Amino acid sequence: MGLRIVILGAPGAGKGTQARKLAEKRGIPHISTGDIFRAHLSEGTEFARQIDPYMKSGALVPDELTIAIVEERLGRPDCRDGYVLDGFPRSLEQTQALERMTASQGPGIDAAIDLRVPDDELVARMGARRTCAECGTIYNLKFNPPKGGGMRCDRNGCGGQLVQRPDDNEDTIRQRLFIYHKTAGPIYEYYEERGILHIVRGDVSPEVVFATVEDIVCGVEVA
Ligand code: AMP
Repeated sequence: MGLRIVILGAPGAGKGTQARKLAEKRGIPHISTGDIFRAHLSEGTEFARQIDPYMKSGALVPDELTIAIVEERLGRPDCRDGYVLDGFPRSLEQTQALERMTASQGPGIDAAIDLRVPDDELVARMGARRTCAECGTIYNLKFNPPKGGGMRCDRNGCGGQLVQRPDDNEDTIRQRLFIYHKTAGPIYEYYEERGILHIVRGDVSPEVVFATVEDIVCGVEVA
């Protein structure tokens, strides 16, 4: 049936880094709504015009648009063997929609892994976050810079330019954190009630976080 994992956490908690690693290791798709939206923006699609104001201000894209995008993505054949969701769900409505989408394929989401990081560290991390424009690898200039110290991606000889996300500026970061704290509670309650919520300390090195994430996923597979 495949493994269906949701990575939860505030903006800057390391969801993208962990989701990407996990998906790569398991050979299943990494599905990030933020990445899908950014791809639309860079391609200048019709959909991009609808989501641009929300992304720019750090607000959530309306549920209706977001759910439709995810439903289409999860319906593709590569998701049959599972997936790692990153940045979705971000509201109770999205959480319930996800449950409906997965219900037809079995018992639903296998684990929701929440990466917990204190707010001050989140703000510091997001200000120093850079992403490779070629392969999407995420760096942090303070905590996880590319080897060699330059502004080029060091992963598998990629060499892509590291760029800053336009929404990683101080005002937007604060706004995103505010929205996160306002909306995340019911999502945790939902997964806690289902008995599949796993809380992980995210304020340690990405390698240590990943080891814990792996333990959780192995436990789910065995169960
Ligand atoms: P992220 O890359 O996950 O930090 O998302 C970047 C931005 O994309 C967010 O600040 C929102 O504007 C939008 N976004 C991403 N995922 C969602 C979602 N599940 N629901 C609503 N908006 C989202």
